[in-house]
Amino acid sequence: MKVCNFCGDNSFIEKRVQYIYKHDDRFLIVNSVPCQECGFCGEQYFEAAVLKKIEKDFHDIYFHGRAVEQEIKVPVEEFVET
Ligand SMILES: [Zn+2]
Repeated sequence: MKVCNFCGDNSFIEKRVQYIYKHDDRFLIVNSVPCQECGFCGEQYFEAAVLKKIEKDFHDIYFHGRAVEQEIKVPVEEFVET
C-alpha cells in the first residue's frame, strides 16, 4: 500500500492541480495536472510520466517554438524587509 513519505498516512485524493515548472528562470504553468494528494498533510504526488510530459512540453515550447494556449505577464520583485 502507498503511504505518504512525509506523514505516513495512506489516504490519497485524486486531484487536478496547477503545476508550475521552472528551469533556468523560465517558467511553464500547466493547468489540470493529475496528482494524488495526501489526505492528511496535503503533500502532492505526481506520476513520473506526467512530469516527463511537462518537461517535454516545456522543451517544445521554449526550444522548438511550439504555440501555447495562453501567455501571462508575471510581476517580479526582490523581497525587502520593511
Ligand atoms: Zn502526508
